[in-house]
Amino acid sequence: MRCPFCSSTDTRVVDSRLAGEGDEVRRRRECLECKERFTSYESAELNYPRIMKSDGRREGFIEDKLRSGILRALEKRPVEMEKVEIAISHIKHKLRALGEREVKSRKVGDWVMHELRTMDQVAYVRFASVYRSFKDVKAFLEEIERLQNELPPELREGQLDLLAEDEVR
Ligand SMILES: [Zn+2]
Repeated sequence: MRCPFCSSTDTRVVDSRLAGEGDEVRRRRECLECKERFTSYESAELNYPRIMKSDGRREGFIEDKLRSGILRALEKRPVEMEKVEIAISHIKHKLRALGEREVKSRKVGDWVMHELRTMDQVAYVRFASVYRSFKDVKAFLEEIERLQNELPPELREGQLDLLAEDEVR
């Protein structure tokens, strides 16, 4: 990193700590040439857009956070970890392909729903009910009905009947 005072590239890090919500690293650097000190910020996932939350706050994309959200929806569901990792790589690809500096968390939520829909219907509805906050039972049932009509037969097989699933209320 170039010194902002004299443009020398000989700098050393004198202090390094997490900043923001823990998704940034703040580094205090000293120029070996002119001895000036300056601060640099690095975020872990520079290639990804920042996530814009519904309350307007922004945060860096954290893969583990995405993974734990998906795994929460999939709790006790018979889905292999490999499929989860494939879904995560699809979403990461979409994030990079956007070419934007920011993306609404709602949009990322839609992508997760898209992935879950073909993976496991119960997980999909769980996730959707959190992200979309279904307004009433009618909307919820319509969503289930729409799902069952949309899924190709080979995917319907092997999935539990949603309405008989007592985990979904
Ligand atoms: Zn310097």
